[in-house]
Amino acid sequence: MTAMPSPDTLKRLATIVGDRYAIQSPRDMVPYLIEWREIWTGKTPMVLRPSSTEEVSRILAIANETRTTIVPQGGNTGLVGGQLPFETGNEIVLSLDRMNRIRKVDAANYSMTVEAGVTLKTVQDEAANADRFFPLSLESEGSCRIGGNLSTNAGGLAVLAYGSARDLCLGLEVVLADGRIWNGLKSLRKDNTGYDLKSLFLGAEGTLGVITAAVVKLFARPAARATGFAALPSLQAVIDLLSLARDMSGSRVTAIELFPRNGLEFTFKHFNVRDPFAAQAPWYVLIELSGSGDLDEVLTQIFAEGAEKDLVLDATIAQSEAQRRDLWYMRKAIVEVQKLEGGSIKHDVSVPLSHIPQFVPDGIKALLEYMPGARPMPFGHVGDGNIHFNVSQPIGMDKQQFLSHWHEMNMVLYDVVLKHGGSISAEHGIGRLKRDMMSKIKSPVELGMMRDLKKMFDPNNILNPGKVLPE
Ligand SMILES: Cc1cc2nc3c(=O)[nH]c(=O)nc-3n(C[C@H](O)[C@H](O)[C@H](O)COP(=O)(O)OP(=O)(O)OC[C@H]3O[C@@H](n4cnc5c(N)ncnc54)[C@H](O)[C@@H]3O)c2cc1C
Repeated sequence: MTAMPSPDTLKRLATIVGDRYAIQSPRDMVPYLIEWREIWTGKTPMVLRPSSTEEVSRILAIANETRTTIVPQGGNTGLVGGQLPFETGNEIVLSLDRMNRIRKVDAANYSMTVEAGVTLKTVQDEAANADRFFPLSLESEGSCRIGGNLSTNAGGLAVLAYGSARDLCLGLEVVLADGRIWNGLKSLRKDNTGYDLKSLFLGAEGTLGVITAAVVKLFARPAARATGFAALPSLQAVIDLLSLARDMSGSRVTAIELFPRNGLEFTFKHFNVRDPFAAQAPWYVLIELSGSGDLDEVLTQIFAEGAEKDLVLDATIAQSEAQRRDLWYMRKAIVEVQKLEGGSIKHDVSVPLSHIPQFVPDGIKALLEYMPGARPMPFGHVGDGNIHFNVSQPIGMDKQQFLSHWHEMNMVLYDVVLKHGGSISAEHGIGRLKRDMMSKIKSPVELGMMRDLKKMFDPNNILNPGKVLPE
């Protein structure tokens, strides 16, 4: 267990950022210590809010010398608890939220250099101001920060076309555990000069170094977009419709999101949203094409061909930006609405796309065998094989009693995921939530290499210990 930093160490750390940005008042710390799902509440003697790479470097040098544990934090929207200090109350939170400058926009190179604390929404907006497009898109984009996105290798709504955060990063600036600064802010698309060091920090969840800035890739702004919503008879139809849409659109499908009927019913019940179709269907997808040309026409043809092949039961296409926003609102609502249906046990899993039609019913069956009356609600980024296989509590069951099944229920589903060659964490990472699963899903060779890397980058184990790697 890590030791409480001495009063002298706390004073030295506070001096670097100034008292105003070394938060010690319990009330002011609250936003840095609670998280979205309300599973954990962290405890810390101090939240540090540096404003520059040099300040981060000086903080880590002292932390390394005094063996003080540091928990890096971006927007605090992580869903696996990696950004929170443990309840021991001995760890310092290092918030990157004041490092929020855009350092450079290079429109001709289709790249942008940003500090780690810039919110994802600001990166998107700055790209648009330069007539460019930054495709990473998450429901949390107003709050999450690019350093957090890269540290979790965030996925989201456009992975199908553009890849995850890892694929969108050209270069990094990182402060190492001993305070040394690595300037790897290259903006090259081709650079085969040895090991790809930046890759090690992407998805490392703050365990190997602190990302202070990044060069991200920009793209041409899509000139046209078409968004539709369709009712489908089966999961096989979902997969077949995606193939059809990819073929017919010339790979211009940028998103396809899955909704089960019960998820839509929750939404109709709790929000001001109406069923777009007269008849009910077991599955629905929101599908978006982007690029150029008359994409509404392309999407109309896709749905018509889909209906011809019995893949589509009914469909609608947004005729205006307001209608498009309404369709996307259903995707946002399906996340929010779970909180209103009582306890919800979460799973962020992925399987190969071809396994989806068998995996989802296998998962539902296993979950219902474990807890009859539970309400599985598999939804999400189906085009990436990524299902948020969440389970709402049985009606009438006590919420806390239901949530006490979190771990066992996870295990039930993870067994099915592993049988289908899948991953128990598609996009949210490992953090503390899934850390103890690592020895089950990684081979000894794989875990050994990860431990060696950790020892090499952080020999004193001061960076986010107890996250990602099992003890
Ligand atoms: C409503 C909602 C929807 C979401 N949807 C998605 C989704 O579709 N796809 C998806 O992938 N995620 C999603 N998330 C999860 C979350 O938003 C992402 O994981 C996001 O990338 C986290 O960014 P953050 O800045 O909030 O990081 P934080 O939560 O602050 O930190 C996350 C991890 O990164 C580390 N870290 C943060 N900043 C740094 C840094 N500068 N250097 C080193 N380590 C750092 C932390 O220590 C922690 O381990 C969602 C979350 C919410 C609340």
